[in-house]
Amino acid sequence: MEREHLSESTAGNAAPRMGTITCSCGTVTLTLPNAVPKFRCGCCCTDCLQRAYLGCKGHPPEAIGNLEEPIDLLYVDSQLMKPDPEALAKLEVFKLNKPDEANVNLRATCCGSVLCTENEAFHVPHTMATFNNLRPFLACDFAEVPASRLYVWTSHWPVEKAKALAAREAASRGEALPQIFNVMEALTEAPIAAIAEALKIEASPKPEGSISFAELCESLETMIEHGYYVESRAHVAHEAT
Ligand SMILES: [Zn+2]
Ligand SMILES: [Zn+2]
Repeated sequence: MEREHLSESTAGNAAPRMGTITCSCGTVTLTLPNAVPKFRCGCCCTDCLQRAYLGCKGHPPEAIGNLEEPIDLLYVDSQLMKPDPEALAKLEVFKLNKPDEANVNLRATCCGSVLCTENEAFHVPHTMATFNNLRPFLACDFAEVPASRLYVWTSHWPVEKAKALAAREAASRGEALPQIFNVMEALTEAPIAAIAEALKIEASPKPEGSISFAELCESLETMIEHGYYVESRAHVAHEAT
């Protein structure tokens, strides 16, 4: 279905389908030359949750706030079409809490939507992550979106919440996805190695007029976000180190 739709929409016109990430008020859209995500997984980490609280002005979708659903991460190329000056003026780079945080986050100042994040230790230089289940606060539009493969950082969730997630999945699809309790302790395990492999795939294409996420961020000032939603960390059994 999707393929038919694509060939129709590009008939007589060679322009490839692009991916988009749009803020909640619709003023800012990031356009990615490659519409196909590299990998998809759910993340239970406090930083993803904190970003969701910030981007949703303290009111993330209920299942996320109740820790029934992790943040649905799409790993996509860190290559985007250069925003026009109007959109550029509405973009802001921030880090959570301290300047040496590994995650560089981009948000739209018009409405506060957090658009995407790049981890300087793990994602660079080809990949960044965006958030697939924050509608209506953030709208991702990508093609051939893969199935989610696993959940990471369940150490940041109460044990009973992670167990309930697995039980719901087992009931609905016959099998629960793997849960990685602590990513740093599982770097050589197959599911994490699969993410690492996906992150290494070079961004392609890189058409004229496109820039990397890092290049975009270089042109913007980085602010430290101290806004803190206690709700996003209140349940945490084990803080990130
Ligand atoms: Zn996370
Ligand atoms: Zn906006």
